[in-house]
Amino acid sequence: MKINILGGGPAGLYAAYLLKRSNPSALVNVYEQNDANTTFGFGVVFSDEALEFLRANDEETLEAITQGLETWRDIEVRIHGERIVIDGVGFTAIARLRLLDILRERALSVGVHLHHQCIVKDLAEMDDADLVIGADGVNSLVRQTYEEHFGTSIEYLNNHFAWFGATRAFPRLTQTFKAAPDGFFNAHHYRYTPDMSTFLVEVDPATFERAGLGRMSEEDSRRYCENVFAEELDGASLVVNKSMWRRFPKISNRKWSVGKYVIIGDALRTAHFSIGSGTRLALEDAQALMQAIAAHPHDVPAALTRFEAARRPVVEKIVSAANRSADWYEDFPQHMQLPALEFAKNYISRSGRIDPERLKANSPGFSSQYEAWRAGSAHS
Ligand SMILES: Cc1cc2nc3c(=O)[nH]c(=O)nc-3n(C[C@H](O)[C@H](O)[C@H](O)COP(=O)(O)OP(=O)(O)OC[C@H]3O[C@@H](n4cnc5c(N)ncnc54)[C@H](O)[C@@H]3O)c2cc1C
Repeated sequence: MKINILGGGPAGLYAAYLLKRSNPSALVNVYEQNDANTTFGFGVVFSDEALEFLRANDEETLEAITQGLETWRDIEVRIHGERIVIDGVGFTAIARLRLLDILRERALSVGVHLHHQCIVKDLAEMDDADLVIGADGVNSLVRQTYEEHFGTSIEYLNNHFAWFGATRAFPRLTQTFKAAPDGFFNAHHYRYTPDMSTFLVEVDPATFERAGLGRMSEEDSRRYCENVFAEELDGASLVVNKSMWRRFPKISNRKWSVGKYVIIGDALRTAHFSIGSGTRLALEDAQALMQAIAAHPHDVPAALTRFEAARRPVVEKIVSAANRSADWYEDFPQHMQLPALEFAKNYISRSGRIDPERLKANSPGFSSQYEAWRAGSAHS
């Protein structure tokens, strides 16, 4: 069997590894436009237990990733000058480059052929295979080539974001919300190594316009954001890596495969970064695809049908939580009118996955603080 994979991000590399491992006689190629030291962004987070799905079938990869993780048990919300800790909301983080290194090593160890600095411009270049996997991210060539067959829908959120790094570590995943002279700013910031953090800045459309962010160079907007978040950065700098302002695309597809072509990872669907699930979904797609191919080793279309049937319900559940979270961020300036503790409660409940009972069980410290404040404000 010959398998061509377009895209050497988490989805493509992990699919390559698993497919070659389960089918050693297969010829598996990965085509990636970047070299091995280049990627976009900085670190990514995984929600607590998000990688546990690896344990049953791939403890070695889980171990390798776990060794590179920064972990914490609580998150922090900063608003109206207050810092509110919400206990029991565990996350872990890793540098994107480190994660890609690990996945590349795994793929090479089983005999995958990795072709770096190889931009595929036409799918005809990939066609000499029994299976072609589009793991080529949000601007997927595979998806765009067969857009009508896949039934692609893309909806852009209104807020703009820019993905920076910061030259300092924050103790935990922190969400900072600020009112500044030009408008309303949010930063998602968390460390992904002992001395570096992701620092993702998000603004609503009115703020984006008023601040003139769309007209700034990458360097000017870096400096502008450094100024807005000077207190949080506390002398540290923001750094750039293709940190242009973008709107997040909500991507979905009516069909996940067309003949021998299948799309996985962000090419298939996106999940808003605020719930930290995109990379995990990409890795899970790879695993589900490998299992479907193992069940139908001589019938690619049947395997791809099985892949979609098994995976779609799981994906839809996570994506709808991600969409609810994204909708909450779209209105974050309005939410900022709430008092600090009410805001934090509203924030943590935003995706609909945490009801009051679950909040009490998971976050007893925050729940007591919130209840005490409510009781106090009812009597004042
Ligand atoms: C701002 C932001 C923050 C995020 N934060 C998190 C987070 O905290 N946690 C999390 O889990 N997820 C996060 N994500 C999502 C995560 O980055 C993606 O879900 C994940 O990278 C998807 O992996 P992928 O392999 O499908 O796609 P990608 O990582 O996009 O990889 C696709 C690869 O294909 C290559 N490629 C594309 N076209 C071609 C071509 N024509 N020829 C050759 N190569 C090509 C690209 O160079 C790239 O390496 C975030 C996303 C954004 C935008």
